[in-house]
Amino acid sequence: MAEGRLADKVVLISGGASGIGFATAVRCAQAGATVVIGDLDDEKAQAAAAAHAALHALHLDVTDEAGWDEITAEVLRRFGRLDVLVNSAGIALNADIEHETLAQFRRVMAVNVEGVFLGCRAGVRAMRSHGGSIVNMSSVSGLVGGHNLAAYNASKGAVRLLTKSVALYCARKGYGIRCNSVHPTFVDTPMLRGLFTGRSEEEVARVQGALRAQVPLGRVAQPEEIADMIVYLASDESSFVTGAEFVIDGGLTAC
Ligand code: NAP
Repeated sequence: MAEGRLADKVVLISGGASGIGFATAVRCAQAGATVVIGDLDDEKAQAAAAAHAALHALHLDVTDEAGWDEITAEVLRRFGRLDVLVNSAGIALNADIEHETLAQFRRVMAVNVEGVFLGCRAGVRAMRSHGGSIVNMSSVSGLVGGHNLAAYNASKGAVRLLTKSVALYCARKGYGIRCNSVHPTFVDTPMLRGLFTGRSEEEVARVQGALRAQVPLGRVAQPEEIADMIVYLASDESSFVTGAEFVIDGGLTAC
């Protein structure tokens, strides 16, 4: 990856202390950006920020409306501008429509949908005077259904269309803010590894095999393979790209 693709840009990444968000933070820093990691767990965020001199950590709970005002104000105070917002924070839950509780459904929607809504709103307000790029993490689960992903499917489908609405609004207003969604399949992160918690070695091997078998390329993705797409969407190389969805799934949805 060429250095300097994000030179002088200030990037804020929700959920940036882990998985795809963290890989994106490192890739953006390597590309010349100043990067703020916004995450729930302050210790984890500080440890993540130690990976590169251009990384900084601030507290963020994406479900907290005032928290978004605070973090964007702090980014502007410390770094003078915001150019890129990556809404990566999210939670997964395996639950089907017959057994999922309303509380579980609401929690998934609060983090995955309300969190992205609040992030986009804060991002638009912070970037409307000079333009920028918003990247929202959806999933292949925002494109195709799964029998045990009722709330997760609903949340990621909502992110897909929220993204298009934000993109069209910003285009109509002439803000120069682009907004796109990214749709990975299984990515080797703590979220995916959470699927294996409490299972025997044989059971883990069986589930890993079942995941691989669904992907035509025969493996799960590494977080850096998603981060590289996000760097493209964050950079000026994607200046004519908005309201679009980027599927990174090893061919899964081509079948
Ligand atoms: P991850 O490793 O679990 O990272 C998500 C990060 O978001 C964690 O640091 C988590 O903190 C944080 N977070 C959770 N709730 C938050 C909140 N309310 N406010 C602020 N931060 C919060 O997950 P990932 O795999 O990188 O996933 C990143 C995004 O990609 C998610 O939106 C996910 O749905 C999507 N995605 C993932 C996959 C996959 O297979 N991994 C596939 C498709 C799409 P805690 O750990 O402290 O909760």
